[in-house]
Formats: sequence, C-alpha cells, structure tokens
Amino acid sequence: EDPLLAESDPDAIKLSYVADASKVDKARHPSYAAGQRCDTCELYNPPANSATGACSLIKGKQVAGAGWCDQYVP
Ligand code: SF4
Repeated sequence: EDPLLAESDPDAIKLSYVADASKVDKARHPSYAAGQRCDTCELYNPPANSATGACSLIKGKQVAGAGWCDQYVP
C-alpha cells in the first residue's frame, strides 16, 4: 500500500493539498466550497473501507479522504 501524502511533500505543496479540508485557507483559496473533500472528488479512488485512497494526480502516495487540494473536481 502506498504511503500517505504529507502536506510537506513537494507534490502536496504544488496542489495546496491539506489532509483536513476543514483547515483550507479560504482567503487563499476562494474556489473552495464547503463539502469539497478528496472523498467527494472525481479523481479519488478509495479502496473499500478505507479513509485514504489514490488520487489520479498523485503517483505513489495516498491522500486522506478528508483532504482537499486546489484541483478538486466535483
Ligand atoms: Fe484530493 Fe481530488 Fe485533490 Fe486528488 S485532486 S488531492 S482527490 S481533492
């Protein structure tokens, strides 16, 4: 299983990824809307019964279902 993406990872920084969508800086990310999380994003692919999953944009690491990034796809 791939390791969890850290917020400090260059891939995460590029996408402004946070592991907890409730902590999105709304001033910096006006596109963010309540309810947006990795586990409601089109690009998220969770294994069954898991709070983490693969994201099509990030190779080799899992993202948190509760996370968010600036490429969110409804
Ligand atoms: Fe999460 Fe979607 Fe961003 Fe991937 S593209 S990190 S699943 S919000």
